Amino acid sequence: MKKFTIAVVSIFIFAGMAGPAQSSQVTAKKYSSCADMLKKYPNGVAKNKKSRNKAVKSGLSAPKVSKRVYKKNSDRLDKNNNGIVCGQKKAEPLIKAEPFTFAKNIDPSLPADWVAEFNQVMSNLGQLMPISERINEVPVVQSPFNIYAWNSAVSNPFPQIPGAQGASISGNGLTTWMVLEIPESELRDKDLHRYKVIAHEYFHVYQIAMSRDAEGTQWLWEGGAKVVEELYSQQYYGRSLFDSQLMPVNAAAVQTPKVFENYGSGKDGNYNGSAFLVLALAKELQQRGMSEERAFTAILRDFQDESAQEADWKKAFVNTFKMTVDEFYQSLSQYPTAEPTEDWISHRVVDATPVLPSKTLTLNSIFN
Ligand SMILES: [Zn+2]
Repeated sequence: MKKFTIAVVSIFIFAGMAGPAQSSQVTAKKYSSCADMLKKYPNGVAKNKKSRNKAVKSGLSAPKVSKRVYKKNSDRLDKNNNGIVCGQKKAEPLIKAEPFTFAKNIDPSLPADWVAEFNQVMSNLGQLMPISERINEVPVVQSPFNIYAWNSAVSNPFPQIPGAQGASISGNGLTTWMVLEIPESELRDKDLHRYKVIAHEYFHVYQIAMSRDAEGTQWLWEGGAKVVEELYSQQYYGRSLFDSQLMPVNAAAVQTPKVFENYGSGKDGNYNGSAFLVLALAKELQQRGMSEERAFTAILRDFQDESAQEADWKKAFVNTFKMTVDEFYQSLSQYPTAEPTEDWISHRVVDATPVLPSKTLTLNSIFN
């Protein structure tokens, strides 16, 4: 080790001695290294204006034009022979550093108690699962992120979003917003969905941020939001659709899960099938030794996090869950399907009882 150190030191000494071959000030100076040249010419030196302009176009800071200095140094320092010595990359503009915020556009058609609870839900969610600052890197999202909410008893009062209806995260390619058209019937019947829908749509924004808006797959995206929505309901309102086994779950969820990878299967009413798949995945991870909390963290957070790096969702799936999508799909054959017990249901069903999460599972324990 000692000998090695000495050898290194001596190389430095030689390098130092061989350094700047100082010539007279009248002729151009020969620089030993770019570090040395940059002290005098912080953006390097260009052979002529043409080379300088080319350099600027390619993203370098404008170098000083000096044929003399260039000539004297080009042999050693212009490695790629592009007419520039010691070119410097232009500093990237700083990413907007302001914290991400929501802008709440609440129409007066909504009752005061809904507005109060909306503010409470948003505050709870902001603490439970803060939106990653990564969202600033998503080109189609701008902060503040607009939320437009109104009562379906009136027609869409927001001219900024013509044609908007229902509940969704929507965008125009430049920016993205949340639509919350709250059905008048839900307000009248005091249906919990009027609040749960806030958690559902908020979680989509969480997913967009965490995954940097990765193209995912429908059942993990919607199933994740549905599960968060129901867990929120269980935790804050003491009841959820888990109490009625997410009824009905279409048997296709276990027979042909692939159809839940894309929207439009027609088999995913209220995203019950997607939610079943998320819960079944959590069960499978627990059977492989994970705690329940950890399994949900892996699905709801870590998979989105991985998707920010790995655009292919099937690869992100393997990286996160240490099993392939096909292995997971095969595991679904353990859940038997049955004829529906109620005559309004027109398809075979699968009982979600074996995959339901514990009543004590909280979003705090998942997202902490
Ligand atoms: Zn959704």
